[in-house]
Amino acid sequence: MHIKKQRLLTPGPTPLYPPALHAMMASDVHHRTQDFVKIQNQALASLKEVLGTSNDVFILVSSGSGGLEASASNFLSMGDKVIICCAGKFGERWVEIAKAYSLNAVVLKAEYGDVVTPDRVEAALAENPDVKAVMVQASETSTGAMHDVEAMAAAVKKTDALFIVDAITGIGTMPLDIDGWGIDICVGGSQKSFMIPPGLAFVTVSAKAWKANETATIPRFYFDLKKEKKMIDKGEGSSWTPNTSHIIALNAALDYIKQLGMPKLIENAQLLAKATREAAKALGLELFAPTAPGNSVTAIKAPAGMDSGVIVKGFRTHFGAIIANGQGTMKGQIFRMAHLGYFDFADMFAVIAALELILQANGHKVELGSGVAAVQRVYAEAAMSPAAKA
Ligand SMILES: *Cc1c(COP(=O)(O)O)cnc(C)c1O
Repeated sequence: MHIKKQRLLTPGPTPLYPPALHAMMASDVHHRTQDFVKIQNQALASLKEVLGTSNDVFILVSSGSGGLEASASNFLSMGDKVIICCAGKFGERWVEIAKAYSLNAVVLKAEYGDVVTPDRVEAALAENPDVKAVMVQASETSTGAMHDVEAMAAAVKKTDALFIVDAITGIGTMPLDIDGWGIDICVGGSQKSFMIPPGLAFVTVSAKAWKANETATIPRFYFDLKKEKKMIDKGEGSSWTPNTSHIIALNAALDYIKQLGMPKLIENAQLLAKATREAAKALGLELFAPTAPGNSVTAIKAPAGMDSGVIVKGFRTHFGAIIANGQGTMKGQIFRMAHLGYFDFADMFAVIAALELILQANGHKVELGSGVAAVQRVYAEAAMSPAAKA
């Protein structure tokens, strides 16, 4: 049709929270003023509150990967042995970071779509008592799988190793008890569940990690968290020019998340993920990561004989909507529907209705409405049945 609203249905960037966008426009503030230091301190306090941690939190001017890089460079030394849980493209990013910093990586690999089980981490820790850190993705966005972070944390906590979690799509989609479980470094990114544009990374740092920082010798300059902590503690803001407009937007989004409550934000993603899986089943489609499907994004296999790019293209040409293809060798095999952050059921009704039309137009047998009905059933059960909480 003639009017197509542009819709971002990808697992980052995600749909934007309008009040945060409006707040961004009022960003004419100098970063060396007390006005801005107040804004930044508010963001740091709100981040701690929504993440449920009393550890130090930092806001970096970078995409999420800058936070991953900082979590390696600030706490490790070249040659250090690390265990990397690698179950997809983002796990492979940890491996690349380890290589860049000459870390000695023990890589626990899982097939795409599968996960690294906590017992493998425990066994690897026992075999390698000299390991300095264990790295994992809470949610592996490239495959839609989710790791058992709690059980892994319990294994790492018993050792001297740091537990470093890429929770960039894990935050806001699954429970993560940073302090209770012992996540030493937890990394987030603004363009995922935080509902604002790309440009900020968040890093939490435990006391155990600060201890490691004292002897860590990897060279660092821009992402020097100890230097940043000094600036914050002195009440001087940030070492560099912070992304002031993003931090103002972040405050608006965090106010919303606080008002909602983190458990509700997570439940929202869980229900939308469940609805998406039910819809896929109703449409005769197979999940790509059925063992441990996460809630940030659902990866679905294209029907036999259909390139998933056809579905991605269908969304763009017919509905102006962007969904994600597979990455790397998964390209053409799968498509990924996001439901983290500012997504709601009305989005899902539309997305699944569009998917049905696109599948049908490309020769997959579809009973129109069957996928949408599956989403409706999940909504009705969660929010409209007598048993559902108001
Ligand atoms: C989005 C994402 C990242 C960060 O990617 P950037 O492009 O650097 O923001 C890292 N890990 C996971 C699991 C992600 O989903």
